Amino acid sequence: MNKVVLITGASRGIGRAIAVELAKNNYDIVINYHTSQQAAHELQELIINEYGVRCMSICADVADEIQVDKMISEIEDQMGSVDILINNAAVDLSNLFHLKTADEFRRTMDVNVVGAFNCSKRVYPKMLEKEYGRIINISSTNGINTYYPMCIDYDASKAALISLTHNLALEFAPYINVNGIAPGFIGTENELAGYDEEFLKEETEKIMVKRYGKPEEVAYLVKFLISEEANFINNTIIRIDGGQQGSY
Ligand code: NAP
Repeated sequence: MNKVVLITGASRGIGRAIAVELAKNNYDIVINYHTSQQAAHELQELIINEYGVRCMSICADVADEIQVDKMISEIEDQMGSVDILINNAAVDLSNLFHLKTADEFRRTMDVNVVGAFNCSKRVYPKMLEKEYGRIINISSTNGINTYYPMCIDYDASKAALISLTHNLALEFAPYINVNGIAPGFIGTENELAGYDEEFLKEETEKIMVKRYGKPEEVAYLVKFLISEEANFINNTIIRIDGGQQGSY
């Protein structure tokens, strides 16, 4: 029986790459999305047709406890309990500091941190019952270093996700390993669309390997962290950033 993996925010970007890579490696996949219904459905079809594993896509705002509860119940009905949870969904509402509102700050914390808390809290009882579970939180180097105050709420949320990782690892031991991944600059469609060429060039210059990362490279790390070979890796945060320079 394949393990069931729930990836939040898997309709595009890094979450999508994780879904594809894990499907290739015989995991059954649940694609969570919030607004990108068509992209999620197309991905579901691709995964079923190309890789022959079970796959469902399901809409839920991870910030909303009730929607998360409904989502997990539906997954349990259709595919069985979640063995592996990848807390990947996030928003980045970059805005000049003086224009940023408390509501934006709260929304960022709600999706990026409370969302991971909601999903983890809902899946862990079954994981403990089965004496097996893996949770990966997709944080960011922004949770460790500071780059631009435009991202003040995003950075705070990613730092909080690192703290959440350590607390959940402690709470769920010894059966559920909880780890965090802190990507640097990853060239997702969304990320590349947000910046002009000059800025992208400047940012790339700050990376020791002189390029930004590919979503697939984060997916390979996830694949390793949930594999048997990584069973002794717990409660840690792994940077994947090509060697970033110029952080504060
Ligand atoms: P992205 O392209 O912006 O995709 C974000 C995903 O999150 C989408 O699938 C979106 O779903 C989903 N999402 C947003 N709000 C949601 C909500 N309330 N409930 C459920 N899903 C929601 O992001 P990405 O660049 O792939 O980033 C993925 C993860 O890596 C994030 O945690 C991000 O912070 C982290 N990260 C990214 C980079 C980078 O350079 N790209 C660097 C460091 C860390 P819909 O489209 O369906 O709304």
